[in-house]
Amino acid sequence: MGETTAFGGPGARLTPRRARMVTEYLRRQLRLSHQVRLERISRWQVTGEHGRPGEPLIGVAHEEDGPCIFHTRALTVEDLVHEMLHVRHPELSEDEVNARTAAMLERMARCADFRTTLRKSGPST
Ligand SMILES: [Zn+2]
Repeated sequence: MGETTAFGGPGARLTPRRARMVTEYLRRQLRLSHQVRLERISRWQVTGEHGRPGEPLIGVAHEEDGPCIFHTRALTVEDLVHEMLHVRHPELSEDEVNARTAAMLERMARCADFRTTLRKSGPST
């Protein structure tokens, strides 16, 4: 199998423990000095554009104690790269973040360091 499948692919859902390790890896890669929290919330806590509760959401908010990635479903490596790029570069547009996310996922798929990070974090189930 190709290298990208070594971590279940960028779209594979991560356990909370793996999501934490990927976040730490990205924090080092992006040279972010502050901690980034992950917090799972219920869809019923999220109100959509039309004022209807029950919307899925993955997004970063700047809380008093630093950035926090809120999510209504299990995170993927791609989600984390995307949100961490928003944290690192708040000035970028959504399109620019998407382009950088794709480039970073490419690099990570080839990076032995990243695969080791995931291996140490245990099975993906
Ligand atoms: Zn975004």
